[in-house]
Amino acid sequence: MSDRIYNFSAGPAVLPESVLRSAQDAIWNLNGSGIGVLEHSHRGAEFSEVLQRTEARCRRLAQIPDDYAVLFLQGGASLQFCMVALNLLPEGGTADYINTGAWSKKAIAEANKRGAVHVAASSEDEQFTYIPSADAIRYSDAPAYVHFTSNNTIFGTQWATEPTPPDGVPLVCDASSDIFCRPIDVRRYGLIYAGAQKNLGPAGVTLVIVRKDLAERAPESLPTYLQYRTHIKGGSCFNTPPTFAIYVVGEVLGWLEDAGGLDAIAERNRQKAAMLYEVLDDTEFFRGTARPDSRSLMNVTFRGPSEELEQRFVAEARAAGLAGLKGHRSVGGMRASIYNAMPVEGVARLAEFMRDFARRN
Ligand code: PMP
Repeated sequence: MSDRIYNFSAGPAVLPESVLRSAQDAIWNLNGSGIGVLEHSHRGAEFSEVLQRTEARCRRLAQIPDDYAVLFLQGGASLQFCMVALNLLPEGGTADYINTGAWSKKAIAEANKRGAVHVAASSEDEQFTYIPSADAIRYSDAPAYVHFTSNNTIFGTQWATEPTPPDGVPLVCDASSDIFCRPIDVRRYGLIYAGAQKNLGPAGVTLVIVRKDLAERAPESLPTYLQYRTHIKGGSCFNTPPTFAIYVVGEVLGWLEDAGGLDAIAERNRQKAAMLYEVLDDTEFFRGTARPDSRSLMNVTFRGPSEELEQRFVAEARAAGLAGLKGHRSVGGMRASIYNAMPVEGVARLAEFMRDFARRN
């Protein structure tokens, strides 16, 4: 561990050390097969077992019911911005979106290419520093679905609980930056998607959890690859899937099970986030950018007294073995991403460094 430092990057992001170790072994020789995981056929017995195990762990962790499919796709969350609308927004229909940040806006822009979008609520009036309250949400008459972003990676805000769509309307969630950071009631959702590179594994694979009947809403004229039902039918092997990325996701999910599952990780995540928010609340020097009732467990965003001191903070932190603390280029400031795999000790080190930096400056 001595040659590794703490990585607070927003994604690709820190992975559990045990996962990196087992991946090293698996690259050389997967389960004694004499062939590495990078080299196995996606249709062979060894990889099929990896895929099944990964899906099974996912289902166990989040108690995913049988009428939901679990898919491992490519194209990132960004392709899901398109696929969601292509599959679920019928001609002449309207989709409702809640606009809580830059990623919500991108999702809205893609849906707009397909059909009508109604923005049911937005926090843009206050630079996306908060999550709209339930009574501020105005749904359209009969939306095809309601889309929201559970955690806003850039602005450091997170929904405490998911919004409640009108009866019978599927809820769609971009959970890229907080998937499995706490228990989730999948039944409340029609579709959940998440790029893996923050809380699940490496870049290159996207987890999609979709109620199977919703996949049947897609027009047959849609290109085959863009239909969810293609990937359901093909068991995520319609074409060559990102085998290595799926393997690593499986190992991360195994690590999560060993760590006690979603209840246990949620407790740990609350503890970690509290350590940093305490520093922000205690010091005059640092200022949290998210409204306290909307603070994220995953991305802690904050400012210093001046841009010059912010730059110095990021540079000195890096020199002290705390990397990736620069805020998103669109907003500046600082951001500490403390996903599931970030150890408590890493957050403690950062909190201590922040207090010390504030004292010195
Ligand atoms: N949604 C959210 C909430 C994100 O944080 C990101 C990436 N930072 C994306 C979508 C885009 O993901 P991808 O790069 O996998 O397309």
